[in-house]
Amino acid sequence: MRPPILDAEVFMATLSDTAFDFRSDTVTLPTQAMRTVMADAEMGDDVFGEDPSVNKLQAQMAELTGQEAALFFPTGTMANLAALLCHSAPGRMLFAGAMSHIKRYELGGYARFAGLTLTDIDDDQGFLNLEQLQQRWCPDIYYMTQAGLVCVENTHNIGGGLVYPVEELIDLRRFTREKKVPLHMDGARLWHAAIAQDRPLSDWTRHVDSVMMSVSKGLGAPVGSILAGSKALIEQARVQRKLLGGGMRQAGMLAAAASYAVDNHLPLLERDHTRCREVYGAVKNLPWLTAIEPQTNILIFKTEKDEAAAMTTWLNEQGLRSLALAPNTVRMVFHLNLSDEACEKLIDKIKEWGRGR
Ligand SMILES: *Cc1c(COP(=O)(O)O)cnc(C)c1O
Repeated sequence: MRPPILDAEVFMATLSDTAFDFRSDTVTLPTQAMRTVMADAEMGDDVFGEDPSVNKLQAQMAELTGQEAALFFPTGTMANLAALLCHSAPGRMLFAGAMSHIKRYELGGYARFAGLTLTDIDDDQGFLNLEQLQQRWCPDIYYMTQAGLVCVENTHNIGGGLVYPVEELIDLRRFTREKKVPLHMDGARLWHAAIAQDRPLSDWTRHVDSVMMSVSKGLGAPVGSILAGSKALIEQARVQRKLLGGGMRQAGMLAAAASYAVDNHLPLLERDHTRCREVYGAVKNLPWLTAIEPQTNILIFKTEKDEAAAMTTWLNEQGLRSLALAPNTVRMVFHLNLSDEACEKLIDKIKEWGRGR
C-alpha cells in the first residue's frame, strides 16, 4: 500500500469550515487539483453512452471490483434502489440489517418503489446474524411471501464503521446461493474496509451479485456513487436509473472527479482511520461515555443519559460539529478535510464537556 500523501490542496481544504466538521465525510470539498481535472474533463451525452470520462470511470470500477460492468449514479440511495429493482420483484421479501442504511435512511424506497417487504436481521456486530437469517427465511410455500434478496452493509455506518468480515460474507454467500437469492452489498464505504484491512475491494465484491460504492464520502469527490455487477444486471440498472430520473447527460465532469478521487485520495483514508483511533484512545476510559472501538473512520459513542443532543449542541458552540444519531448516541466521522487542530480540540472538548456536567 502506498503511504498517505498530504498534498497541498488537501492541506488547503483543512483551512476551510469543513476542517472542524465531524458530522459526516460527505462534507468534504473538492480540492483545487480535483476542480482542475473536472474543468478539463472530456464529456459527451451519457444517456447515449457517449461520455468518455463516465465510461472510463465505469471501466475502472468494474476492474477494481472484479465485476463485469459498472454504472455511475448521482447518489448511493438511487444506486441501492436500482439494485433492489433489478434483483427482485414486487411483493418479495428483502432481508437487511436492522440498523442498515437501506432500512433506516432511504425513506422506505424498498417498499415505496420496489414493492418489497422487509425482514430485519440483527446486525449489531456490523454483519448479518446468519443463524437468525436462516430462522427467519421464507418457507417455499405458495401462500407465503417469497424471498427476494439479501442486503449487507460494508462498512456498517451506524454500527460504527465496522468492516464486514470476509469469512462471514463467504458463509452468507453459500446460503444465498443455495437459496438462489441475490446478494447486494451497500458498500458506500467499502473503500475504508479495503484500506483498514489492506485488501483489494474484490476480496468482498467477488462474493456479491452487486455492490454500491460512494465517491462522495471519504474519497472526497463532490457527487456520485457506483453500482457494479454482471453485464446483464448493469444493463437493467441503466434502465432503472433512467426511470428514476438519473440519466445525467454530460456527467463526465463528476466522473472525472470520481476517478481522480479513487486514484489520489484512497490512500489518504489511512490517516482518517489513525485519527479516529487516536480520538477513541483518548476518550474510551471517560466514565460518562461508552465508545465502540473503531475499525475505520467512524467513532460512535453512547452517553450515560440521553445527552447526545445537549452534547452536540455544546460542541457546536465550541466550533466542532458532530451528529446526534439517537437520544444517547453521538457520531463523529473522520475525513480528509479535517485538521490536526480539530482532532486535538475534539479530544479536549469531549473531556471538558464531561467535567462541566
Ligand atoms: C451515505 C450512504 C448511502 C447513500 O448514499 P447517498 O449518496 O447519500 O444517497 C447508502 N449507504 C450507506 C451505508 C451510506 O452511508
